[in-house]
Amino acid sequence: MPKAVYSVMGMTLGIDFDNTIVNYDQVLYKAALEAGLIKPGAEKNKKGIRDSIRKLPDGELQWQRLQAHVYGRGMKDSVLSEGVKAFFDACRAAAIRVAIVSHKTQFASMDEGGVNLRDTALRWMREKRFFDSDGLGLSPESVYFESTRREKIERIKSLGCTHFIDDLEETFLEEAFPAGVERILYAQKSSSLKGVKAFGSWKEIYDYFFAGSRQPGQSRYSLHR
Ligand SMILES: [Mg+2]
Repeated sequence: MPKAVYSVMGMTLGIDFDNTIVNYDQVLYKAALEAGLIKPGAEKNKKGIRDSIRKLPDGELQWQRLQAHVYGRGMKDSVLSEGVKAFFDACRAAAIRVAIVSHKTQFASMDEGGVNLRDTALRWMREKRFFDSDGLGLSPESVYFESTRREKIERIKSLGCTHFIDDLEETFLEEAFPAGVERILYAQKSSSLKGVKAFGSWKEIYDYFFAGSRQPGQSRYSLHR
């Protein structure tokens, strides 16, 4: 069990990976179109694609197959979500500890090709310079893949996260989700869940943590703690 290491400011940000740090919109669109699951001109975002596929016969299964594809073979065409780099840079400047905590099994049950999803994700991160000091500056030891949502939550606890950023409300809905961790929902305009702050973009999350100060380390958030 890794020890929780506290940053200068005592903040540890946990961040989800798929659809939070990684943007699969284009890959999903292309794969769904090729599979005949959507029509040209359909919405090009995850939620729109998912919602229309789920309405099809066997929609849930089709959606799971598509996900298995994009997290495996399709991953190479996915991109870093807009604004992630600037946010990581600001965290580093402010000595805020960042960890990636992802619910990602080693292999997708829907993918018969047996692509190792964790290796694929790590390779993608290396290519996007996550672990370079002049890139995103993260350590590979700060990346955690967990096999279940429950284990993901246990990891959020054991790391001593003060905040967690995720694109899925389901993460925050888990009963075991620690009460003291601030819940930040990414890529949604609003949330009806109590205590969840919703932000439409990384720019908005950046502003929430760092705006109103010339130095990220002097954010209004840290001053209020
Ligand atoms: Mg996600």
